[in-house]
Amino acid sequence: MLTSADVTITNSLKVPVSSEQMESLLQLQQEIMAKIAINNEHQRILDDLCRAAEAMLPNSVASIMLFDKKKEVLLVRAAPNMPAGAVEALNGLVPEQEAGSCGTAVFRDTAQFVCDTKNDSRWAASAFQEFIKDFGVHACWSMPIRNNEQFPIGSFALSSMERRQPHAFHQKLLETCAGIVAIVLKREEEEKELWWMAHYDDLTRLPNRTLFNLRLEHAIEKAKRAERKIAVLFIDLDNFKDINDTLGHKAGDLALQEVADRICSCIREEDTFSRMGGDEFILMVEEVDDPLEASHVAGKILQELELPFVLNGHKCRLSASIGISIYPDDGLKSDCLLQNADTAMFEAKNRGRNRFFYYEPALTQLVTERVEIENELRQAIKQDQFIVHYQPQFDCQSLRLVGAEVLVRWLHPTKGMIPPNDFIPVAENIGVIEELGRVIMEKACAQCVLWWNDGLPDFTLSLNVSVKQLQKGCAKKVEELASKLKFPINRLEMEVTESLIMARGGRAICELEAMKELGVSIAMDDFGTGHSSLAQLKHLPISKLKIDRSFVRDIPDDENDVVIVKTIIAMAKTLGLRVVAEGVETEEQKALLVNEGCDDLQGYLLGRPVDADAFKLFLEAQ
Ligand code: C2E
Ligand code: CA
Ligand code: CA
Repeated sequence: MLTSADVTITNSLKVPVSSEQMESLLQLQQEIMAKIAINNEHQRILDDLCRAAEAMLPNSVASIMLFDKKKEVLLVRAAPNMPAGAVEALNGLVPEQEAGSCGTAVFRDTAQFVCDTKNDSRWAASAFQEFIKDFGVHACWSMPIRNNEQFPIGSFALSSMERRQPHAFHQKLLETCAGIVAIVLKREEEEKELWWMAHYDDLTRLPNRTLFNLRLEHAIEKAKRAERKIAVLFIDLDNFKDINDTLGHKAGDLALQEVADRICSCIREEDTFSRMGGDEFILMVEEVDDPLEASHVAGKILQELELPFVLNGHKCRLSASIGISIYPDDGLKSDCLLQNADTAMFEAKNRGRNRFFYYEPALTQLVTERVEIENELRQAIKQDQFIVHYQPQFDCQSLRLVGAEVLVRWLHPTKGMIPPNDFIPVAENIGVIEELGRVIMEKACAQCVLWWNDGLPDFTLSLNVSVKQLQKGCAKKVEELASKLKFPINRLEMEVTESLIMARGGRAICELEAMKELGVSIAMDDFGTGHSSLAQLKHLPISKLKIDRSFVRDIPDDENDVVIVKTIIAMAKTLGLRVVAEGVETEEQKALLVNEGCDDLQGYLLGRPVDADAFKLFLEAQ
């Protein structure tokens, strides 16, 4: 129903916009747009817009109100000429059917022209009447501001100290201003988003490397003045790649998110925790007095990661290696602290993972050496600097030669002979293990074919394979290589370590099965050091267990080890597997093993690993 006041406004709005007025509006628009284009001081622009609108309506005050974060109440965003008390009174205005001019404009999503606030139902509530009394507002026109989706997000208003009828020009003025505010806000939002994208990690919503560096630099300045310490913790997941490989990238993403959540639960609000990328995270703990405090945090994180992760219905385990560096002890600059924490993390990995390690200067030397090895290792493969040694395996009963394990050595041009434990892990890390494995297999198989063609006794040739070599298609490659070398494939054996096969699962097991199909036998190396159960073993395509050297070493003196060895042998029998003991060095060890029914023996007592020439002599003597 239209009231007489409405009719008056409708008529008043019919007063046409003059060309000068149009000109002034365009000018306002142009000026503000130019400002928007050149700077990002959004608040200044909004204030300027208010002033420009005020200049076009003498004796008025402009205000911009916007929804709060929860989209419940309106807050004054800009009103440069409004008294502070008025701003305060307006803040928190709830949009309603009748809530002053702005609350109503937003609620009804239409312009509100209140020409006489004292006598208007929209201003009737006592709070508004109070406002009139306090600030002398007699007319108030308000235009909703809409976002891209055309939803009202706030209002642009002109409050006047006198009662006033709007003309079409004023309506245009309000529309123009509301439109400009919407553009400024959108710009602001986009810039925020860009900033977010440049400083945060999308997956975990944690700060990224850039923001972390900024914060670390800032923290260093603060710590310098306060003479306090900062701890930097470099956190790298130990077996994340396995999850990605076996369960897929989606599960990998879930794992990273959960890791981020769990670590967040161990730290204080004020600590900066960020994702560096991949499976690397970094944490900065400020206001540290004693470097030991960092170890408490690191310990908590490791513990928090211990609970199994459930990813797409699969239960998996994840652990982390953590390196710690301390400002100012381990570096004064952010990049140095990061580098040293990274170095310490590497050492934590080397020492067996799932642990933390503090940086110490000697590590830098170690890392330099390791980097050197990495570089040289690539060269070494190209330049064929590897030789293989053979270590015999004997049948317990007949003491006849039944097999030989191939053990690689690196003949380094200046450093001499490097043992496999010093470079196999490096080869795995830098991704050359497949190539190296092929070289080793080629050398050993070709050599055996020569021997056998000469009529020397034959035996099973055991190759150590790293689980990283058990990639899709590797069984086929083994078959092709054996056939190229004319090596009888049923004379081939692959030794795989227990812990690795358990961690890898799926893919690796498929390839082992394919190899078994081809006639290759599979031995489980270092048995007893992992955690496989009888039930798991039953499903693996293995034909042999190799009792780890560490259990053989102290028998018969160590009763525990005696029990373990007996149990492993009994377990192997139950499963119908052959069992080999490695590292047999004494007659006592041998006697006990033979007595317990161990099938084969390997160790210094019966034969050390030797090069091809020496092994040939040994074969000839058999
Ligand atoms: P492993 O598979 O457990 O190999 C047995 C290791 O025990 C060998 O050390 C061997 O020399 C040593 N050993 C044999 N008998 C005795 C003994 O009676 N007493 C003692 N104390 N030690 C004995 P090596 O050659 O240094 O190899 C170390 C590890 O390097 C191997 O452990 C294996 O995991 C890895 N490795 C060696 N060759 C290769 C290879 O060609 N490929 C891959 N992927 N890994 C290899
Ligand atoms: Ca082995
Ligand atoms: Ca072994």
